[in-house]
Amino acid sequence: KFINDYEHLHKSNRAEKKKIAIFGGGLSGLSCAKYLSDAGHEPILYEARDILGGKVSAWQDEDGDYIETGLHIFFGAYPNIHNLFKELGIEDRLQWAPHRMTFAMQELPGEFTTFDFPEGIPAPFNMAAAILRNTQMLSLEEKIRMVPALLPMLLEGQSFIDAQDEKSVLQFMNEYSMPRRINEEIFIAMGKALDFIDPDKLSMTVVLTAMNRFINESDGSQTAFLDGNPPERLCQPIKEWVESKGGKVVCSSPVVEIVLNEEDGTVNSLILANGNTVTADYYVSAVPVDVFKRLIPTQWSTLPYFRQLDELEGIPVINIQLWFDRKLNSVDGLCFSRSPLLSVYADMSNNCAEYANEERSMLELVFAPCSPDAGSPINWIAKSDSEIVDATMKELERLFPTEIGLNVISDKRANLVKSTVVRVPRSVYAATPGRNKYRPSQVSPIENFVMAGDYASQKYLGSMEGAVLSGKLAAEVICDKVMGRSNRNGLKTVHSSILESELKERAP
Ligand code: FAD
Repeated sequence: KFINDYEHLHKSNRAEKKKIAIFGGGLSGLSCAKYLSDAGHEPILYEARDILGGKVSAWQDEDGDYIETGLHIFFGAYPNIHNLFKELGIEDRLQWAPHRMTFAMQELPGEFTTFDFPEGIPAPFNMAAAILRNTQMLSLEEKIRMVPALLPMLLEGQSFIDAQDEKSVLQFMNEYSMPRRINEEIFIAMGKALDFIDPDKLSMTVVLTAMNRFINESDGSQTAFLDGNPPERLCQPIKEWVESKGGKVVCSSPVVEIVLNEEDGTVNSLILANGNTVTADYYVSAVPVDVFKRLIPTQWSTLPYFRQLDELEGIPVINIQLWFDRKLNSVDGLCFSRSPLLSVYADMSNNCAEYANEERSMLELVFAPCSPDAGSPINWIAKSDSEIVDATMKELERLFPTEIGLNVISDKRANLVKSTVVRVPRSVYAATPGRNKYRPSQVSPIENFVMAGDYASQKYLGSMEGAVLSGKLAAEVICDKVMGRSNRNGLKTVHSSILESELKERAP
């Protein structure tokens, strides 16, 4: 709504056109640039790499195959993403799968079970039907014993969900006497998929946030894949949109320094790696939190707003693509592997138009948790590609017992033709208990500096939806500043633990 508001104001010449320098060309920076250009401003986005997209980026290998940074699933419960696709006129690029969730059966190799959401039945009844009709994962008694834990979420909504952030999933389960099997059957899979982390390390707010959307929105848990590589199919249209309105998106231009005005600590300029200086009316960071921490100027480093970022850190994850010499008899759509090393996977030769192949499968898999911090006993992120692929293939023997592995007779066996391993040592912020209070607001204490990025404060998790929303909120902050209006979200109060630690350090 606010964008229409500003578009209207711009047309009536009441909004002054401002130049805004954004650094970071992931979905958050691109979304910020898109909404600033819609509001009549002139965003110039600087991306460090030669490709756009950040965690959704992809590039071609020598065979012309795309190597992706991550397997990306779009959910029905992603309103800001869907608006963005609609505004760009690219809604048809999302390939929706039937509304179901598929889990591998832990004790039965090669077998899968599904939660099927009936069509035409509104939320929350479609989810209730999906849960009740699946008898393979949880018993009726276990389902009933979930109710007392989920009831406060249904009755109190977001305030209850936010209040659970200090607890891990396991602590929450103990508090509500939830059967352990719910963890083994559902929560481990959810934790690994939502934040690449095990439930004993994961904030319960993460699981409840997802469940709340899935329960309350009829198509909230329905999944879609993009129909091709994200830089071309999603980032390029945003770049073209921004440039058609007078903005600019520049790749291969890392920002290496934020230069301040000594007198008031506001941003004077940005220095690029090629030595060029960039000046603008406003500056937006849309780089990951770990990168931003390295760019914080000394003068800002004692401010509580920036100090709270020490409490946020990206979690490692590995994305694997495996090309086989024949078609696997795989699940249609996304599958929760429920195996120790893998999180979710999909056969992209069936699910993505650009990667379609009727004769050969290409599995894309998320390997998580993959470091001791995230719950893995082995630091997989430091292992070689071949060790990671071998371990993955071992797990796939259980998921595809009649097609993968040396026990399968050779004329039935699917052989690995090619593999790629992409390590993201610091991906989305690790949503361990108690992190939400340190997520910074888009409004900063610096007059001409605004924060974007999926980790900045917004009601979605570190996700594509969170990144797009955060970029949009950052654009809104700038539009409000230009119009002399106060921002509806404002500067979030820094948590007292940060302020107290500052006082302690200052004490003689
Ligand atoms: P980023 O994408 O990290 O973008 C930051 C950009 O800043 C990058 O392009 C980077 O190159 C650039 N940059 C860094 N330093 C500088 C500098 N000095 N100057 C200029 N630019 C710089 N989300 C979902 O919703 N669904 C999923 O299924 C899903 N699966 C995922 C699977 C994997 C394996 C991974 C890694 C992530 C997944 N995510 C998923 C999360 C999602 O990708 C991210 O939350 C989102 O893309 C983050 O966007 P962002 O713009 O905040 O950050």
